[in-house]
Amino acid sequence: MLLLAPPGRGTFIRDNYCSFSSKADYYWPPIDLVVQSGILRDTAAVTVLDATAEHLDFERALERAAAVNPGLTVFVTGTASFKEDMQFVARLKERTGTKLIGSGGNLTFWGDTIMRDHPVLDGILLEFISRSVAGLVDGAEADLESLLLRDSNGAVKRYGIRKKKNFNCGIPLHSAFPQSRYKVPQARKHPFVRTLTSFGCSYQCDFCIESRIPLVYRDQDELFRELRELAAAGIPEIYFMDNVLTAWHDYFLRVCKELESLGCFSWFGQSRADNLNEEVVVAAKRAGCHFMMIGVETGSELLLKAHRKGHGLEETLSAFSLLRKHGIESLAYFIVGLPGETIDTMRATLELALRLPCDYVSFTIATPDPGTPMRDAAIGSGELDSSATEFDCSRGSPIRLGTLTADQLARFQKTAHRAFYLRPSYLARQIARLRGPADLLSKSRTAYSLLFGGS
Ligand code: SF4
Repeated sequence: MLLLAPPGRGTFIRDNYCSFSSKADYYWPPIDLVVQSGILRDTAAVTVLDATAEHLDFERALERAAAVNPGLTVFVTGTASFKEDMQFVARLKERTGTKLIGSGGNLTFWGDTIMRDHPVLDGILLEFISRSVAGLVDGAEADLESLLLRDSNGAVKRYGIRKKKNFNCGIPLHSAFPQSRYKVPQARKHPFVRTLTSFGCSYQCDFCIESRIPLVYRDQDELFRELRELAAAGIPEIYFMDNVLTAWHDYFLRVCKELESLGCFSWFGQSRADNLNEEVVVAAKRAGCHFMMIGVETGSELLLKAHRKGHGLEETLSAFSLLRKHGIESLAYFIVGLPGETIDTMRATLELALRLPCDYVSFTIATPDPGTPMRDAAIGSGELDSSATEFDCSRGSPIRLGTLTADQLARFQKTAHRAFYLRPSYLARQIARLRGPADLLSKSRTAYSLLFGGS
C-alpha cells in the first residue's frame, strides 16, 4: 500500500481540500495521507512517498514509487497541480498496475465528472477520514462509505457519507513521513507533526470549501493515546490542522488539560475570532500554545456580512488583543478580491491590518474553489466561467471574480504586505524578539517571499 504526494514543478501543498504552491519552500505533511496512515496501518503494510517533500523529479519519484510495487495507491491532488498529478499516477499505474484512489478538494466536489474523464482512476475518497480503503483491502463492502468506486465493468458506484457524531482514524504513522523535510515558519521546534481533533466546519463562510463539510469530532481517547505516543517518541511540536481548533470549548479544554499534564509539547493551530474567550486562551497558553492563526478576511463589515463570516470587526479586534495579552503570537489571514470588493474595501482591509495587534499577516487572492457557495453564486451571476477548474491562490487568480482586475489585486497584495512588514515599529518589535540565528534566517526568508514574491 502506497500513500503518495506526487512530485511537481513547484512545491505544491495539497491537503485538507485545498491546494496552492508554497511560498519560501514551506511544506507540511499532507493531512489526508497522515490520517489514512492511521486508518490503514493495521490492515496493510504502508509505505509513504512524499515526493514533494523530498524534491524528487518525475522520473526519480516514479522509480521510488514503482519499487514499492503497490497493489493500491492513495494519492493527494488539488486544483493547483491536478494535470501533472494525473500524469504521474497514470504512469505509475501503467508501470505497476496499481489501483489508484485519489483524495482532494476537486475530487470530492467534482468526483463524478473526474471519474468519467479519467478512467485511470479506480476510486475517490470523498472524505479523507473515510475508512473505506481499509474496507477495500479487507473485502468488507459493508465498511465502504464516502467513496466513489469503479467496478470491473467500468461503472462508478457512489458510497454515501454516513451521518456520524464522531470518528476514529487510528494513530497516524508519523514516523513513516520524511519529518526532517517539513518546515513551517510557525513551528518553534522540530520535528513537528500534524494531527487533528475534528474534521469539517460548522460555520458558513461562502468562500470556503469547509463550509460544505459537516463538523465531526475525533474520539478523544484515541487522540489522547496519540498524544502520549508522540510524547514517548520525543516529538516536541504539534501543528493541529483543525479548521477551528477551539470550536467546541468543552472538548478543547479537555485537550488542553491533557497537553498540560504531558507538559512536553509546544503547538499551534487555527481558530476563529468569535470563538475565543479568556478561559480558552488562558488554557491554550498553559497547554503550550505559542501561535494561533485566525481568518479575518476583510476590513469591510459589509463584505463580512455578504460572505457570511458570522461575526464583525469588533470580535476580530478583541480576539487578537486577547492573544497578545496572554503572550500567544498570531497571524491574520486576509482575502482580497471577494465579490463586492472595491478600492475602498481594500483600503479598509489594509487599515485594519495595520491596527490589529497581530504578529503576522497573509493576504491571499480569492479563488473560486470547487464546492464553495461563492463559486456557485459567481457562476450563477455570470461573473465566472464554469470551465475554470485550475487555479492557485499563491499565484493570483486568473479569474475575474469581482469588479477589480487580477493586476489590481496582485498589486494590492504586494503593497499590503510591504505596508505591514516594513513599518519601523514592526521591524523593531521583531528584532527585539529574535530567538537566534536560525530564527533570523527563517524570518528573513518568509519576509523575502512575502515582499518580493520569491518562492
Ligand atoms: S473560513 Fe474557517 S470558519 Fe469559515 S467555513 Fe472556512 S474553516 Fe469554517
